Amino acid sequence: LKRYKVTMVGSGAWACTAVRMVGQSTAEASQQPGSMFDKNVTMWVHEDKNSERNLIQYINENHENYIYLPGIDLGENVIADNDLIRACKDADLLIFCAPHQFMHGICKQLAAARVIKRDAKAISLTKGMRVRAEGPQMISQMITRVLGIDCSVLMGANIAGDIAREELSEAVIAYANRESGLLWQQLFQRPYFAINLLADVPGAEMCGTLKNIVAVGAGMGDGLGCGSNSKASILRQGLSEMRKFCKFISPTVRDDTFFESCGVADLIASSYGGRNRKVAEEWARRRNEGDEVVTFETLERDMLSGQKLQGVLTSDEVQEILHARGWELEFPLFTTINRIIHGEVPVNMLLRYREACKMPG
Ligand code: 13P
Repeated sequence: LKRYKVTMVGSGAWACTAVRMVGQSTAEASQQPGSMFDKNVTMWVHEDKNSERNLIQYINENHENYIYLPGIDLGENVIADNDLIRACKDADLLIFCAPHQFMHGICKQLAAARVIKRDAKAISLTKGMRVRAEGPQMISQMITRVLGIDCSVLMGANIAGDIAREELSEAVIAYANRESGLLWQQLFQRPYFAINLLADVPGAEMCGTLKNIVAVGAGMGDGLGCGSNSKASILRQGLSEMRKFCKFISPTVRDDTFFESCGVADLIASSYGGRNRKVAEEWARRRNEGDEVVTFETLERDMLSGQKLQGVLTSDEVQEILHARGWELEFPLFTTINRIIHGEVPVNMLLRYREACKMPG
């Protein structure tokens, strides 16, 4: 009997939370005769040479990632490995959850080693895109292109720490192949984590990616001391630009996708509780008080203890596409957020985005 071996590629807060859920499912399934899943789940952990303790050894002995998800038991069947190739070579089911800026390098390494099984399936939890001459390439498309395997995505209003504490949450699994979607649903669905299946990979993945820009805008609004009406305006305009961008890039994106957890719900969760919001609030507050040296890089380092921001990079990537296609004024909020990040317009012009997107720099 074939038992699917599962590997998680990534070990940040969301990767650890997700691998914990998957490990709970495989442990439960393994108690049933004829389980489809191998009980143990491998997690590739990128070792930080500067950390005082060996993280891999610590996870395998204590079942806890003390850096990114302290105080949470990952389960005894989650096995950390620092060797990417070894961690992935026997996997039937690969879960990708590394910051989007590292994903292409990871996939290239795996492709060069020629170790990925031809019938392996992937799912991406990474929210982000790559910009290429012909336009954006979403992470799931890149995985399929580089590794030659089917790739679904899991997206939603998923603040890692809350789900690790088993607070009720939901997400979407969007699939290109329904059988893969059903398989992934069996692994991720938990009593506290409800999964909706959706046949719209581009829509779900672009929503998860673009909302990071809006969350940066929402954080800037918080830093300026905006009240509820102003913040709601940022979210409303942000959602409308997300929808427009999705439709421009991929006209088959479905309207109902925006009402799923990957759409409006993730936008709200991230704009109130996410890291992009938190760092952007501090950045905007200081800029507005006249601090011209504060940067997102230093705040990321000081406030996120090693975790990576996605929204600022995504804003640059999306802006490159808007610029190349002459769409800047069609997306006044996205453009204004990007211009504020680069100091071309003052942060207090955020809510006057219709003027700010046209102002001379
Ligand atoms: P942040 O990266 O801003 O924390 O976003 C969290 C998120 O994507 C929740 O779904």
